[in-house]
Amino acid sequence: MQRLIELTKSDQCKDCKVCCRFPEQSPNLKPSGLNLRKTGETFTCEAYDTEACRCAAYTKRPFDCEIYPFAVSKSEDGACTLLALDSLCPNHEGILYKLKETDLAGLEFPEGTEIAWEETFIPIRVLKNSGNGGNKLNTLLNEAVFFFRSYFFNTGRLSALGFPYHMIWNHTTSYFWKIINGSFCLFSKTGKDYCLPLPPYPYSKEACNECAVLLAGLSSSGFTAFNASAETAEQAAKDGFASCRTSEEFLYKRTALAELKGDNYKAARWLCNVFEKNSDISFRKYESSDLTSCAEILNAWYNQKVGKTKYEEDLRLLGHSLNANRAALSMPEKLGLTGRVLRTGSTVAAYTFGSALSEDTFCVYFEISNPAFKGAGQYVFRELCRELIACKYINTMGHDGIEGLKTAKELYKPVEKLGVYTITIK
Ligand code: SF4
Ligand code: SF4
Repeated sequence: MQRLIELTKSDQCKDCKVCCRFPEQSPNLKPSGLNLRKTGETFTCEAYDTEACRCAAYTKRPFDCEIYPFAVSKSEDGACTLLALDSLCPNHEGILYKLKETDLAGLEFPEGTEIAWEETFIPIRVLKNSGNGGNKLNTLLNEAVFFFRSYFFNTGRLSALGFPYHMIWNHTTSYFWKIINGSFCLFSKTGKDYCLPLPPYPYSKEACNECAVLLAGLSSSGFTAFNASAETAEQAAKDGFASCRTSEEFLYKRTALAELKGDNYKAARWLCNVFEKNSDISFRKYESSDLTSCAEILNAWYNQKVGKTKYEEDLRLLGHSLNANRAALSMPEKLGLTGRVLRTGSTVAAYTFGSALSEDTFCVYFEISNPAFKGAGQYVFRELCRELIACKYINTMGHDGIEGLKTAKELYKPVEKLGVYTITIK
């Protein structure tokens, strides 16, 4: 427990007015065993020393105060007990960052400390699953990257096992989760239709069947689970489901892309050399100050594509891509994305965003280059691969049926094309 309390300590607490003050007399987060007194428009804990601006009962404060902004909470569907983090705390992003290096295994919480779910809570970990919660689902919002990764990190190499794959679309799609039959089930809703953007994890026939019943109660779209690996699809077929290979993703050996040695990589190497002739090249971590200049090359990329697009459906997909890129540029940390920017002088030549899927595999979700700089795309990709020394493989996703993209990805000599399958009921 001490590890958790250590994470909550911050210099920001000194000037913060969130803790110990409440908007109502009996809030969900009321310190247990203490009363609140009216102070102007708000209510303040009776143990709060307003003159000294500190807790007068600090060493004996209740457990919920000790762990705040963490809270032990019921999930939205009422079926689980969760460790949650309150996003109202201005330091919550710093805590989320530190959580990556914190071992949460074996945490135990005193009985009777569980409170009701708050909309501002970010799920961190399921502590106990004690029911099914009926048809109710739990909303999955941006910032739940730590929670998502606790289930899917190190479970495969498909791009959909990364949190950004899903959440970059939440301008059109809402995401939900639920523990069904012991498996983590991710649901998405676009318009009125629900589906599973990933099969239940761990996969089980029983979890799929229960999802099918739940989906039948939510919409008329039936059971479809997307982004299954070949192994899961094979097992689903044995269990009586229909499975179909819908696309493929390109997996490369990182060292080959970082070195670009030999005849296979002649063209990519040449393009990198062309770009290298530019002066004052910098390749560095994406920062919020890069947003405007990266958005400019994104718009240039979009306008160029729109000019060449004839079909309504392609235009619609381009619009979605534009919004997904904008989401990546405006909130990379919340989506769990790592970004890099390539510049020559003060001009952005390219940017890229991706995320680790496992200890050895990194997925590149976005790469946009400035058409004014020949070879910028190849250069930014090579530099990223050079930097990711801990990774063995790079997934660059599929080709969306675009022939030119497929040819370009083939040229980099993938070590494997990962099949992506869809599972439905026969
Ligand atoms: S809300 Fe967060 S930053 Fe503010 S006092 Fe509480 S723990 Fe500290
Ligand atoms: S007990 Fe102390 S820390 Fe807890 S709400 Fe009251 S004043 Fe704040």
